[in-house]
This record gives sequence, structure tokens and C-alpha cells, in this order.
Amino acid sequence: MNLISIAALQNNYIWILDDKQGHCIIIDPGEAKPVLMALDVLRLIPSAILLTHHHLDHIGGVTKILVHYPKLRIYGPHETADQGTNHVVNHGKKFTINGREYITLALPGHTLGHLAFYSAPYLFCGDTIFSAGCGKVLEGTAEQMYYSFQQLFQFPDSTLICCAHEYTLSNLNFARSILPEDKAIEKYQQYIKVLRKKELPSVPTNLQLEKNINLFLRCHDYNLQKKLGFILPSNKLHLIFAELRLRKDRF
Ligand SMILES: [Zn+2]
Repeated sequence: MNLISIAALQNNYIWILDDKQGHCIIIDPGEAKPVLMALDVLRLIPSAILLTHHHLDHIGGVTKILVHYPKLRIYGPHETADQGTNHVVNHGKKFTINGREYITLALPGHTLGHLAFYSAPYLFCGDTIFSAGCGKVLEGTAEQMYYSFQQLFQFPDSTLICCAHEYTLSNLNFARSILPEDKAIEKYQQYIKVLRKKELPSVPTNLQLEKNINLFLRCHDYNLQKKLGFILPSNKLHLIFAELRLRKDRF
């Protein structure tokens, strides 16, 4: 498989997963033009579109892509049903495209119906986990988003996290403001600064790295809890997550 990221809109990534036999799937096409151009240049025929949630910067290109490929299968949560989705799916649904199996995972918080699509090693996770950060909690609660993040621990460390925005540097700047002495975060911030100066994408990232640099996956971390000013038992860790999200919103 070839994974291709297309920079779109202000800071979105649209993902294309190509089966190396001329067919592909498209994930969260927020706009049509760069997708249609890529399909043309790469000589790919799309088989399906996967939609993680209903926001315009993830679904805005669907109608125009359908004009060119009217028979496309479009998988998405119920919240995308009036935006072109013709295969409404929910948590735990398995389906096969071009011989490759995908499984859906409900990750509520950013929106209530937000889904991720997993096909090893790829996790297409929309606006839930970002590299070093987390999506805004717009429709759900921070507690819901915390439990969505906990689900990510079931995947292998080698999982490639294909998120939908280039927010890595600002997330790392925030992480360093909380844990200024954390060497892993400091080192990765330096690396990403260089990468972004060259306008190179910082994603996909992988779960092993994120477990080290993403504070939203480290709510159990004693040092982090101390920095935030409260030590909590394991059944209250969603409060650490909520505090982090609040501080990021104000950052
Ligand atoms: Zn969104």
C-alpha cells in the first residue's frame, strides 16, 4: 500500500491509500480540487471515501468528487448521512474495500458521532488524536474524549496515526509549556521545527512516539499530574485530561 497525504485548505490533510493496483480510498476530502488532481497525476481510481465526522473541512469535497466518480461507496457515521454517505457505519463495523479489511471505532468527543477507521497499520482518526495533541471537545465532554483516547492503547505501537491536521508544532509548544524539562518533547520539538521550516508534513505519526510526547496519552504520568497540581487515582484520570484540554484551549 502507498499512503499519500494531500495538504488542503488551511492546515488539513486528506489521506489517500493506494492499493498499488490502480485503486485507492480517500479519507476526509475537505475539498475536491487537490484530490482530483492527485488522482489524475497518480492515475488512481477511487473505490470509496471514508468520512470520520461531519465537519465541512472533512466532507466539503464529497459532492464534487461524486460528479467525477458517481458510483463511489461512502462510509461514515450517521452524522454524515445527509452529506453523501451511502454506507452509514457505527462502532465495530467491519468492511472490505479492494481486498483490505477496515474496522470502525467510535471515538466521541470532538463530535458525538466521530469514527476512526483502522486497517493495520493505519488508523485514520480525523480530529481526535493529533501528533502531540488532541482535537477540540466541541460536542461531547472531556471525559468522553479521555475514554476515546484510552481506546488507542489497544493498538500496536507501530500503528500509523493518520490525523487530519498539521498542528504538531503548536501542540509541542503547549506540551513544553507544561513539562519544560521533558527531554523527549524538547528533542521532538527541535526536529519538528526543522521539518516544518522545510514545509514537510509531520504526520503520519506512530503510537509509540505519541505515548512519549502526547500529554493527552500520559494522564497516568505522576510528573504530569504534579505539574498540573493534583494527583488522582486511576479512576479519575479523565480530570487530568480535562485540565489539559482546558489549558490548551487558553494557550
Ligand atoms: Zn472537526
